[in-house]
Amino acid sequence: MNEQKGLAQMKDAEGFTVRDQDKYQIRSTGYSSDRFGACECCGKHVSEVFILNHQMRYDDPELGPSWTYYGNIGMKFGHEACLKRLVAAFVVAVA
Ligand SMILES: [Zn+2]
Repeated sequence: MNEQKGLAQMKDAEGFTVRDQDKYQIRSTGYSSDRFGACECCGKHVSEVFILNHQMRYDDPELGPSWTYYGNIGMKFGHEACLKRLVAAFVVAVA
């Protein structure tokens, strides 16, 4: 099974979902808020804490297309649904 799913569903070698201007990965920590604290999005208790790793694309003059945490969501802990909402709402600001 290796069907084309379009740009929005593409994953890179590290398992990040790659979009036009950013890429992200959401995975379970396997632990609850007892270990990681309340959801960073809604502030409520989480029975299974997920971690979001979000990076933004930029063009490095020497290295070419690269990824950075600067100026975006970066890393966040919380509910899977909250993190997905955060990524869905992320819009790259064009200077
Ligand atoms: Zn939440």
